[in-house]
Amino acid sequence: MVLVIWLTLVYTMAMMSNNYTQVSLLYSKIESPGIMSFWFAKPDGFDFQAGQYVKIFIKENQDPRDRISCRSMSIASSPQEPWLQFSMSLSDSEFKKYMESLKPGDSIWISEPAGPFVLPENQESEVYCIAGGIGVTPFRSMFVDLVERDRVRLQRVKFYHVAKELFLFDRELCELPIEQERVPFALMAEKLEEKKIELVESRAYLYISGSPRFVVGVRRILQLMGVSNERIILDSFAGYKEEI
Ligand SMILES: Cc1cc2nc3c(=O)[nH]c(=O)nc-3n(C[C@H](O)[C@H](O)[C@H](O)COP(=O)(O)OP(=O)(O)OC[C@H]3O[C@@H](n4cnc5c(N)ncnc54)[C@H](O)[C@@H]3O)c2cc1C
Repeated sequence: MVLVIWLTLVYTMAMMSNNYTQVSLLYSKIESPGIMSFWFAKPDGFDFQAGQYVKIFIKENQDPRDRISCRSMSIASSPQEPWLQFSMSLSDSEFKKYMESLKPGDSIWISEPAGPFVLPENQESEVYCIAGGIGVTPFRSMFVDLVERDRVRLQRVKFYHVAKELFLFDRELCELPIEQERVPFALMAEKLEEKKIELVESRAYLYISGSPRFVVGVRRILQLMGVSNERIILDSFAGYKEEI
């Protein structure tokens, strides 16, 4: 009994110390039959690092344990852009149906930004970014951020987008001065094998983002090649079930 009261108290205090912000929709767009992007007005003083995520709430109750009204979403816009962009796979969940129904001016609530999936502090490090499907969202934020403030560093980034059909943000990202390739999902293991010597011998960091199944699968391949764990950084989209 005492434990239950104590846990309730700790949880309530944690909730109170969290900051949730109401943001209103500017614009939304269907990217493909299964994917939609949303642009919300960015509140003054809402700072984040490229690659971070927020919790989105569709109800004002803002309970992060609520599996119906709350989802984690990477911020796809860069810190410099004057809006907050999210791009998400659509489904029949109540959360996604609600998001699909939003009209300009409607509100959602977002938590403070969080997450360690940000580029390494060492500016000289080479970085391989490997995105599975919708896992490209945090990379868009990172790349646009580098375009704004460090184009030299952009030259040390290599980007591989693995997907079945749709390569989200393809047209936009192709314009950026980054070494980049689109890899059909079926050829992913082959592509990694082709790059094996480069991946193992370089001291580059390997950033992997996408469904839990995708990030764990790619990490396993890299580990078997001999890439050390310290060089592998994952952004696992828990809850995202797309098989890719
Ligand atoms: C850091 C992070 C960033 C993400 N960024 C994106 C993004 O940019 N775009 C995108 O489309 N998706 C992203 N996701 C996944 C997203 O939060 C949703 O889980 C996913 O989009 C599926 O939502 P859905 O409503 O269609 O889920 P459904 O198909 O209805 O099911 C998802 C199931 O997973 C459960 N679930 C939700 N969150 C979690 C969790 N954290 N851990 C375990 N189970 C959970 C739900 O309760 C539900 O039962 C991200 C997840 C994380 C953790």
